[in-house]
Amino acid sequence: MSRPLNDQLNAELDQLRSAGLYRSCRDLDSAQGARVVIEGREFLNFSSNDYLGLANDPVVNQAAREALTRYGTGAGASRLVCGNLAPYRELEERLAQFKAKEAALVFGSGYAANVGTIGALVGKGDTLILDKLDHASIIDGARQSGATVRVYPHKNLKKLASLLEGATGRVLIVTETVFSMDGDLAPLKEIVELKDKHGAWLMIDEAHATGLYGHYRRGLAEPLGLEDRIDITVGTLSKALGCAGGFVVGSRTLIDYLRNRARSLIYSTALPPSIVAAAGAAVDFVMNDAGHERRDRLWRNVSELKHGLAKLGIQNESRSPIIPVVIGDEQAAMDLSAKLYERGVFVPAIRYPTVPKGKARLRVTVTAAHTSEDIEKFLHEFAS
Ligand SMILES: *Cc1c(COP(=O)(O)O)cnc(C)c1O
Repeated sequence: MSRPLNDQLNAELDQLRSAGLYRSCRDLDSAQGARVVIEGREFLNFSSNDYLGLANDPVVNQAAREALTRYGTGAGASRLVCGNLAPYRELEERLAQFKAKEAALVFGSGYAANVGTIGALVGKGDTLILDKLDHASIIDGARQSGATVRVYPHKNLKKLASLLEGATGRVLIVTETVFSMDGDLAPLKEIVELKDKHGAWLMIDEAHATGLYGHYRRGLAEPLGLEDRIDITVGTLSKALGCAGGFVVGSRTLIDYLRNRARSLIYSTALPPSIVAAAGAAVDFVMNDAGHERRDRLWRNVSELKHGLAKLGIQNESRSPIIPVVIGDEQAAMDLSAKLYERGVFVPAIRYPTVPKGKARLRVTVTAAHTSEDIEKFLHEFAS
């Protein structure tokens, strides 16, 4: 016999509240940007992954508007059932070109891209090898796949090597290139060498790297010269590209295979054509000179913020626009976030289970849309 539903759920919610782990959403009355309006009041926003400031960009918005007028709001069904609208083909061609791969496949979200791709490539009898700090969508894909899951401590290559020794069946390593809650970088070159040595496959998640690294802004694999040695690359349209959706790029064979096997693609309605067209415009933006300038602006902001925090005695290993200030205690992190909020600065506290227990933090993200004054204001309010 179960307890009445609401009694059971309330008891669990009370436990979360007393552990400082209860979650709720703030209601925004504005678009995403360096400034947002919450309950009628303006805040400086250091919370979003809109790194290049494209989530409310006039050119991208216009592309969405035109597609909305022409194609309407809904895609109708899964693309395999009711067909590809033109913006999909265009976006996938552009993504393949941008990432310098043979082909691309767009999913409903980055989450769906990870879950669907992992589940398509490995199953019972196979081995998945994950970094301890891999994103929840990778973990969920791993669980659903039925493969044996092995986890190495964050960036621990020795342990990765020993897990590769003992692996059976198809062997797939999955790592983020820029870790979403710590902002540090995977030792990609060493991982590629290990996967070659052991004949394993490698899937990288460039969710927080796409648009940001490399001369062509393709991701972290580009400046490291490793792109041709990576089997599967996942990215999102939802972060630096400012839209929504996820994608995989790789060989044409890989993409044909995923179209036939990735359940999160096959059994889910396609993204709306307006958002797909917007993402196409955002990819264009990132590929051209405007993307270059915007990216340079972002890195200047990252360095200003990191220097400012270092002066306050806060060092970290971040090599990205994700700059964690680790507090430890869950309630203390919430209190600091609340203090900043009172002063007009919106920075979220990130807690268990998104990060390990006792490693609660402010996850500060800076974007190209911030000005130097914005960053100074943040540092001032943070310090006082
Ligand atoms: C955000 C994120 C995803 C999920 O992407 P969505 O488009 O938000 O579903 C996947 N992987 C990593 C590393 C992420 O940070």
